[in-house]
Order: sequence, then C-alpha cells, then structure tokens
Amino acid sequence: MAHVVVLGAGLGGTIMAYELRKGLGKEHRVSVVSNGDRYSFVPSNPWVAVGWRDRESIEVDLAPVFARHDIALHPQGAKRLKPAERRIELNDGSSVTYDYLVIATGPELAFDEIDGLGPDHNSQSICHIDHALKTKTAFDALVDNPGPVVVGAVQGASCFGPAYEFAFILEKALRKAKVRDRVPMTFVTSEPYIGHLGLDGVGDTKGLLESELRQHHIKWICNAKVDRVEPGKMSVSEIADDGSLKKAHELPQVFSMMLPAFRGVAAVYGIEGLTNARGFIVVDKHQRSTAYPDIFAIGVCVAIAPLGKTPVPTGVPKTGFMIESMVTAAARNIDRLVTGAEPDAQATWNAVCLADLGDSGVAFVAQPQIPPRNVNWSSSGKWVHTAKVGFERYFLHKVRTGKAEPFYERLALQVMGVDKLKEIKIDDGAA
Ligand code: FAD
Repeated sequence: MAHVVVLGAGLGGTIMAYELRKGLGKEHRVSVVSNGDRYSFVPSNPWVAVGWRDRESIEVDLAPVFARHDIALHPQGAKRLKPAERRIELNDGSSVTYDYLVIATGPELAFDEIDGLGPDHNSQSICHIDHALKTKTAFDALVDNPGPVVVGAVQGASCFGPAYEFAFILEKALRKAKVRDRVPMTFVTSEPYIGHLGLDGVGDTKGLLESELRQHHIKWICNAKVDRVEPGKMSVSEIADDGSLKKAHELPQVFSMMLPAFRGVAAVYGIEGLTNARGFIVVDKHQRSTAYPDIFAIGVCVAIAPLGKTPVPTGVPKTGFMIESMVTAAARNIDRLVTGAEPDAQATWNAVCLADLGDSGVAFVAQPQIPPRNVNWSSSGKWVHTAKVGFERYFLHKVRTGKAEPFYERLALQVMGVDKLKEIKIDDGAA
C-alpha cells in the first residue's frame, strides 16, 4: 500500500489528487496538504478585481468533495518539507509522511524585491483572491476619484497574460463607470516588446496586442524595470538593448496593479538539490525531482529555464493547460511506480492561453513552447471571452465534482489538435 501526498490545493494540486485517486487502486491512500480548505480559481481574479465576480462564485469547499472521493485533507498548511525523512512538517506542529509526494505549491509572490510594490504597500495585485478583493476596493476609490493608472508586469515576472487581461478589463470597467475619459492609462512591462509574453511571441501576439492597446488608448513602456512604487508615483527605468538606461520615467499613478516576479514557497525554498536558486523544483522529463526520486512537481512551482536573455529579465509562463499536462504525466508515472514499473509519461508543456480583454480576447497556442514551433497560432475576437467563461465554468465544475477530465474537455482539446502527453513508446504495445 502506498501513501501519495499532494502538497498544495490550487489549480494543479486539486486535479492532481483527483487523477491519482482515479488511477490508483483503493488500497492506496491519497492525501492533500493545503492552506485552508477552499479552492480558489486564480484565473478569475482579474474579474473579481473590478466586481464582475465575487469570492463565492469562484471558490469551492474542498472538504466534502475530497471526503466523497476518499482523499484526506490536511488544511493546516506545510511549514517545511523534510525530503530525507519523507515527511512534511505542518504549521500546527504535526507531520504527514509519504511514499510519493507531488509538490504543487504554485508561486510565492516576490513583492519584497521592489521597494513599495504590492498590496501591503503602494500597488495592487490580482494574484490571490484576497488581493483581488482589495483591488476592487481600490477600483471603487478610482471611480470616485479618477486619475492616472499604471498596469503591467515587473522585472523577473513570468505571468504576462493576466497583466494584459487586467489592463483591458479595467479599461472596460472604467468606460462602464463613465470615468475612462479622466483616467490616462500606461502599460509597463519587462517584456522586450508587446506580446512577447515570456515566449518570444506566439503567432502575431505582438501585432494583436499592440493594436488592442492602441484602440483602447493605453500607452506602453517595454524593457521596463520598476525601481520603486510610492504613493502617487511609480519610478521606472526603460532599459536599452545593450543594458544601458534609455530613459527614466516618473509615472504619476493613483492606482497601479503590477504582476510580481515569482519564487518558490518557504516550505521548499533552498532545499539542497530539490530546488534551483529561485526555489523552483528541478524536475526531469517525467516531472520527477532530479534529487529525490519519490518526489514529483507540477505547476508554477516547477523550474523552467527562461527562453533567452532579454534586456530586462523575464520568465516563461506556466499556463493552465500546460499544468494539466504535467498533472496527467505525473499521475501516470506515480501509478507506474506503485505497480513496480518505471515512469514513461512526459508532459507536452505546450502553452495554450485564452486572454480575456473584457468583451473580446486574444488566444494562442504555442507547440512546443520554444520557437521554432509546429503550432504557432494566435487569434482574437469575441469568441475568446466566451471561451474563457467556459474554461472557468468547466474547471470549477471539475473541482466541485472531483472529475479528473470531463469528456467534452478532452474532445475540445483533441479538436484543437493539442495533446496532454507526448506520444509514449511502450514496448508491450499497450499504449
Ligand atoms: P496555484 O493555483 O497558485 O496553487 C498553489 C496552491 O498551493 C495554493 O492553493 C497555495 O495556497 C498552496 N500552497 C502554497 N504553499 C503551501 C504550503 N506551504 N502548504 C500548503 N499549501 C501551500 N493560466 C491559464 O491557463 N489561464 C488563465 O486565464 C490564467 N490566468 C491567471 C491569472 C492570474 C492572476 C495568475 C496569477 C495566473 C493565471 N494563470 C492562468 C496561470 C496559472 O494557470 C495559475 O497561476 C494557476 O493557478 C497555477 O496553478 P498552480 O497549481 O501551479 O498554483
């Protein structure tokens, strides 16, 4: 009998627990260590931040679903992983031991790396539901007292899609509130060009997003390094291709929302061999730790090398579909280990993204993630907004019901020609 523990109950961790439960025999135990007993759908946070969603509509109480599926829940949160002892020390002093562990802890938000950045200081965030709700309060104040706005992503950020999404969603919300004419907007990003997205662009994301920014009267600054955020002002250095200072900007702002850089969470940060210098888990092609063979990792906590050097550092995004492909691979590989076989499944790590722009959107598929690609497609239109709402509904339904993958989702992915696993060559022919 094996005990498989998932650390983190976010987008990747919850689905991981369901896939493990579906695949493993009843004699094996599946447990989840989480921070609290609720699941929150992070991709809806930009909507929460302007009041288009509330907490209730994007959260799921995990305890009853997990109980129905025979998954144990430890909501105390992990204090520190002790990999040599196959043990997780929890915040209340108790411990959980495991035979196999899947780390799915997402990112720690590195606001502290920039003076004055973050919801405890002088800028807003949409990375967590609590931040998004705080941003909604700031949005209401902006509507009451309109003034200049800055939205974007700082140096070292890897998650650019939500920054664009929020800029356009905010723009629409301000138009609806009839104060847009009194709100000059600037998009500030560490990307070398608009639509780079940490992926050196996908299809014509540069053209599509520049055009949308122009049409919505949003100015932009690329190669931007945020030096500090003060009440009423953001100091930004625009960096030239050779690394020198091109221009120093002092941007007035009464409201700003910047995606921070990410790093690994404290419970795993700095564990020798397990993590890289930023605290992300180093895995092989089977999602397995290169140092601890009984540990797997999925989602934003996985180390992925940046695409190439950019004048201001940028990271590679990890989007929902890519995370699901990691989940499918890790579940199969653990299943095989438990039955005495070797891991064979590899996630595709393809980037598929739907970025909502309020009432339309931009979608892209990058397969593989690094150019040149076999699929390098982007498109825009109202259908993307509808598809994003569909993604939210399907994902929350999946978490509420404990289903690993409803058939219509599988169908939709096949129609798009996107597979979750790389073709597995198995010598017994049982693909
Ligand atoms: P998370 O969903 O962040 O889950 C990690 C979980 O681990 C959290 O619940 C956290 O509390 C828990 N945890 C951390 N430390 C501990 C500990 N010590 N003990 C116990 N639990 C712990 N991707 C898309 O494909 N489409 C989108 O539209 C999209 N929108 C996004 C919008 C925003 C604002 C952001 C930030 C990201 C978005 N992403 C999107 C990217 C990505 O899909 C999400 O970030 C996704 O939530 C990442 O999943 P994850 O499981 O890796 O991490």
